[in-house]
Amino acid sequence: MAAHPSVLVTGASTGIGAAYAERFARRGHDLVLVARNTARMEALASRLREETGVAIEIVTADLTQPADLAVVEARLRDDTRIGILINNAGTAIGGSFIEQSTDAVAQLLALNTTAVLRLASAIAPRLAQAGAGAIVNIGSVVGLAPEFAMTVYGATKAFVLFLSQGLSLELGPKGVYVQAVLPAATRTEIWGHVGADVDAMAGVMDVNELVDAAMIGFDRREAVTIPPLPDVEQWNAFQAARQALLPNTRQEHAAARYRTAN
Ligand code: NAP
Repeated sequence: MAAHPSVLVTGASTGIGAAYAERFARRGHDLVLVARNTARMEALASRLREETGVAIEIVTADLTQPADLAVVEARLRDDTRIGILINNAGTAIGGSFIEQSTDAVAQLLALNTTAVLRLASAIAPRLAQAGAGAIVNIGSVVGLAPEFAMTVYGATKAFVLFLSQGLSLELGPKGVYVQAVLPAATRTEIWGHVGADVDAMAGVMDVNELVDAAMIGFDRREAVTIPPLPDVEQWNAFQAARQALLPNTRQEHAAARYRTAN
């Protein structure tokens, strides 16, 4: 694989994805930008082409639409120049579970989980065959926190974290780096989609600072990068507690507390 493989970024028209596109262009990687808003991607691409000289292609796609998704999958499967996938496109919806329509939550899953999974599945065999490359999946700290009252969004991000950790274990030994990035609140347009005023919120990170930190985690080959978390030992202790529980789940008999009705 080339020293600077091409990078395909989903959700590249604004926010975190646009910041990723800029970082990789400045590092000399050619780009494939994917989102629905062609005009915004054109504007970003022409600026980055001028400033960095890299080649940038735009693929207009709605990743909730199977036909559009299939085009991007085929690109990832067949284009051997692409060595890095930034699986970033995602959204959130407002309201409680009973206020959200069944169609709206299904649409959220289509983008935040199905598209992420299908794109990873499209590129992973080729990267494993090459013994190189990277898949970066953008999760969220909400995926750790049912308490945050964003149940379906959090569930999609829990999926992204689990998928990433599992793929890291499967693909890491084959030379493919898999990173989960878990931002907390970051200043982007996503907050407008859930009806929140980001300017009225405390503890919101600038998108450039978020992506710069995520790129440091990328360069260190971290499996999980949580840019705002001050003490990484808290994450390590959380993982250690989870792993300590696992051997105890393999039992021939139910636990003593379930052997009597009361
Ligand atoms: P954003 O500013 O709303 O950008 C979302 C991007 O995804 C846009 O480029 C949008 O472009 C694209 N997109 C949305 N729906 C799409 C669709 N159906 N098909 C293709 N592309 C689509 O949000 P962001 O904050 O940058 O979010 C990026 C990722 O970070 C998401 O996965 C989000 O869950 C995660 N995240 C964000 C925060 C935060 O506080 N901002 C925190 C944790 C995690 P088009 O509209 O042009 O399609």
